[in-house]
Amino acid sequence: MRDIAAVPDHEIELSGGALALDFANTVGGTHVRPTHDHLRGYADVLRFAVMAGGLKDDVAKRLAVRAQREPMRAAAVYELGIALREAVWAVFSSLASGEAPRSADLALIGDAAAAGRARSRLVYDRDGLGWSLPSDSDDLERPLWEIARSAADLLTSGDHERVKECASTTCEWVFLDKSRNRSRRWCDMSDCGNRAKARRFQARKRAAVRPA
Ligand SMILES: [Zn+2]
Repeated sequence: MRDIAAVPDHEIELSGGALALDFANTVGGTHVRPTHDHLRGYADVLRFAVMAGGLKDDVAKRLAVRAQREPMRAAAVYELGIALREAVWAVFSSLASGEAPRSADLALIGDAAAAGRARSRLVYDRDGLGWSLPSDSDDLERPLWEIARSAADLLTSGDHERVKECASTTCEWVFLDKSRNRSRRWCDMSDCGNRAKARRFQARKRAAVRPA
């Protein structure tokens, strides 16, 4: 088991601008020294995916039932999810600082994206033409496929040049800078949300352990 950081006292924040980047930002503090982690089990992966628009509610409910029936598999998929999260973060963090991403990280993302693509069908619906997983595709890895596809789409489009890492030294959140002049520096639009939350969290924790 991973040495997991504390339970967060605030909700997941979706400031990355892409599903894969929001997934990378489910850790508070830094990836080397997280202050807290929003993903503490498979159920959290499902919750994140629904919140971030990577999974429909009804599919998530079916996957949650399946995860309860197959706890060993759900735990393995959760571990794969954490590995995927770290790979996504490492790749975009490297690119944002002008370094080459590691091929092992790219392979992990590519494999998960390809697994989803292999099961997808080309469809025409409300959203137009595109690849879509059948609604009855209930593999527990499904949320990871969507996240990996988001990362792969971003990496293979010119948009990856707009991905930046937060300017705070105590935050490693990554985000897609959609500003016209590419001037955004922080994970939150004006300041670093991760840093502010970590500060509040630490203050509350100190208050909690102080004897009465
Ligand atoms: Zn930040």
